[in-house]
Amino acid sequence: MSAGETLFSRLLNRQPGTSPPLESPVAQSVGLQLYLDGDGQVLHLSGPLRHLLAQRMASTQPAHLLDYLLPHSSLAVEGQPADWQGQLLDLDFFSLAGPPLHLRGWVQAQGDGWLLQMLDIGDLLGERRQARSREQAQMLATQIRDQLRLCSLARLPDALGEQLQRLSQQLHIPCLAVALLDEQGLGWQIHQHYTALNAPRLWREQQRLGTGLDSLNGAAPQRLLSSEQPRLSALFGPHAGFAVPYRDAQGVAAWLLCADYNAQQQAPDLSDHDWLLLAAAVAAPLLERLREHRHHQQLERLETLQALLGTGWWEVFSDSNEVQLAPTLAQSLALTTTRLPIQDWFNQVHPADRDELRSRLQALQDEGVPLELCVRWQADAQSLPLWYRLQGRSLGIGAQRRLVGFMLDISDIKNQQQQAAAAHARLDNLIASSPAVIYVQRYVAGALQPTFFSASLSALLGWSLADCDDGRLVEHVHPDDRPHYFERTRQLLREGAVSARYRVLDHQGNVHWLLDEAKLLRDDLGLPVEAVGLWLDVTDATLAAEQVKASEERYRILVEDSPAMICRYRPDLTLTFGNRPLAMYLECAPEQLPGVNLGSWMSDEQREAFLQRLAQLTPEVPVSTAEINLCLPGREHAWWVWSDRGVFDEHGTLIEVQAVGRDNTEVRRSQQQLTQSAKMATLGEMATGLAHEINQPLNVMRMAIVNVLKRLSNGDVQIDYLTDKLNRIDAQVQRAARVVDHMRVFGRRSEVEQQPFNPLEAIEGTLSLLSEGLRGKGVELRIKEAGFQVQVRGYVDQLEQVLINLMVNARDALLGKREANRDFQPWIALHAECDEHVVRLWVEDNGGGIDPRLLERIFEPFFTTKPVGVGTGLGLSVSYGIIDNMGGRLSVRNGDEGARFCIELPIALTD
Ligand code: ADP
Repeated sequence: MSAGETLFSRLLNRQPGTSPPLESPVAQSVGLQLYLDGDGQVLHLSGPLRHLLAQRMASTQPAHLLDYLLPHSSLAVEGQPADWQGQLLDLDFFSLAGPPLHLRGWVQAQGDGWLLQMLDIGDLLGERRQARSREQAQMLATQIRDQLRLCSLARLPDALGEQLQRLSQQLHIPCLAVALLDEQGLGWQIHQHYTALNAPRLWREQQRLGTGLDSLNGAAPQRLLSSEQPRLSALFGPHAGFAVPYRDAQGVAAWLLCADYNAQQQAPDLSDHDWLLLAAAVAAPLLERLREHRHHQQLERLETLQALLGTGWWEVFSDSNEVQLAPTLAQSLALTTTRLPIQDWFNQVHPADRDELRSRLQALQDEGVPLELCVRWQADAQSLPLWYRLQGRSLGIGAQRRLVGFMLDISDIKNQQQQAAAAHARLDNLIASSPAVIYVQRYVAGALQPTFFSASLSALLGWSLADCDDGRLVEHVHPDDRPHYFERTRQLLREGAVSARYRVLDHQGNVHWLLDEAKLLRDDLGLPVEAVGLWLDVTDATLAAEQVKASEERYRILVEDSPAMICRYRPDLTLTFGNRPLAMYLECAPEQLPGVNLGSWMSDEQREAFLQRLAQLTPEVPVSTAEINLCLPGREHAWWVWSDRGVFDEHGTLIEVQAVGRDNTEVRRSQQQLTQSAKMATLGEMATGLAHEINQPLNVMRMAIVNVLKRLSNGDVQIDYLTDKLNRIDAQVQRAARVVDHMRVFGRRSEVEQQPFNPLEAIEGTLSLLSEGLRGKGVELRIKEAGFQVQVRGYVDQLEQVLINLMVNARDALLGKREANRDFQPWIALHAECDEHVVRLWVEDNGGGIDPRLLERIFEPFFTTKPVGVGTGLGLSVSYGIIDNMGGRLSVRNGDEGARFCIELPIALTD
């Protein structure tokens, strides 16, 4: 055995022979030679390795072999060098370089001492260690992989935690994590991590790491320092980091991250390959299991979805003419099997859809035309068909072609669609037949563009949508109303709704008034989307309203400009309106009239009579006319002919009165004057009679005085006689005075206001003036007075004037007749009667009556049959007016022997 062989065999750890080759020379130039004494003290060192040796305690002199050895090696050389003979010694020496020197050698006697011959076996040991740790790493990898592969899906997170912990503990990695791509595949995130007890907490689960890891070369493990990779500083913080990629077919799919860890120092024996292996042991099964998990979930979801939707896949096998259905689908189609002849499948399709399905399937098979069809499914003739949507694709090409698709139960949707379509049709019909035009205008950058009109548009205006888009709608708006139309759009956009009325011109140019009601619809953000509105043709109504307005205006002008007084007032006589003429009479402005009480211009009696008259108005007889008398400011009395028309509510209650009046004061005055002059004329006519009337007492008095004087001259005067005569004279004086008095009274002007009086007073007055004169003319007076006590309203002197007129006319007729016939016995009858409401005074004579042809005319003014200068023709016409004014009636007819006049007067109601 050569020295070289020995050296190599020792190096290869082959057992040396039982006795070391003590004599064999050892090259002095290799290894280390230590010359020891019997106690193991080092006497001398030689060989190249001696420069590397370090002493534990440099001060000891001479140093003992143990001073050069690491503590565990010192055990291998216990005792004396003589004890070590024949043994192969593996000793670890302190080294100046840091790591110990691993030396192998033997001891042999040399002189009186011992030579310890050592060779360096450091790299041999290293290799062995490396091989062992690799072996361990591989084992670890296999275990990890197995654990992760075999655990249940539910336990996967726990199992991964355990394996990370195992890895961490075995390789002394304080922080360990697996980073996977996030769901979008865009960045990395911590999938799971393990942190040893005292290690810094760097990560949390699902923490996002961004794309920093992509900047690493994924081919090999990377040692990272945050200073070198600022982008990764978030990953490892201030600590050292070590990242190991796992690559699959798509590239790097995972990283094993080790933080606070220096792989070279702490696992110097692990190669890149080992690390990649370990990373793969964690990541590959993990990714596989996750994929499996996702797939499982997807399947579950798909199953659930199919069940929920009543849907399922199908696949047609054209070679065997069969179809395979998803179990859920087969179930919902009430099929007992999931695979069936395609013909059986077709047979369940409604006959109306069957051929189409068959042909579309054929097209799918032959040309790959995607199938998309809605068919009715009818399991049996009794049940209602269900609607299914059938979609199919062909996968692959040529002989590999597969026809797959799904069937979805869309009966609900179809039914809803059918209902919606019916409702839609009804609505369309409604919109189309509506007299209104319904429109939609879309909001485009501040403007509204018509996008829809109901069919009624063409019926109403003869336009189509095309006539109105691109801003042409406004051209149809009447030029005068365009500003109004623009304002309508602005208001709609501003306030969200608008109601406007404007004119448009139809296709023939005819003007239509449209009522436009529109509403703005906004989106979720409140931005306008479209306006929905309707046009209603209100031409007729608008024109009618315009006509009403025009006629109202005409009536207003009529009322305003009318010379007549026109007003409205409430039943309590408060004015609500009065025109200018009325205001002028009341000396105020028309605006001041509302609120003024009409009764304030009347005397209490007038007002009372006025209200009584109003109370008689009814919805059936709503009009009443009367002459009313008022005390106006600055005027003595005014007479108005006043017509009232009552306005009633639905209960028949008077709510307002509309009145028209005209001033009758002048007429009244002239009437009064006429009456007065007629009266004076009557007085004149009566002058003869009156002279007679006064002569009569004068004659009586003269006779009495003559008789008394005769007696006085005879001296034959008795007191009684004298007294008697003087009394008679006194009575005659009184009688004459009464006549004169009455004449004076009669000659006076009538009172302004009517007064209640007993009509018998007038008869009495008349007779006091006329009776003597008539008797003197030989006319018999037939007076029949009733003793009633009633009152009529008016003027007693005027009624007397009427009676005088009638009697004077009768006298004239009688005297005229007697001139012709001397034997004629004239008489005038005067009598009164009354019933509940009316007093009647009759004046009748036997003068032969009035020519019937003239009967109608005798009340006309200036109608007379008497010679010029004798008759005025006013007597009867004035009398008629007087009686009429008192609310009565004067009438005439021919009686048996002559004219028969009748005065009818209403009885005044006394309180
Ligand atoms: P006058 O007496 O001035 O003619 P009146 O109006 O009083 O005017 O009468 C009109 C006419 O009516 C008389 O002219 C006379 O012809 C006729 N008349 C009036 N009363 C009688 C009467 N009682 N009998 C016949 N004729 C009469």
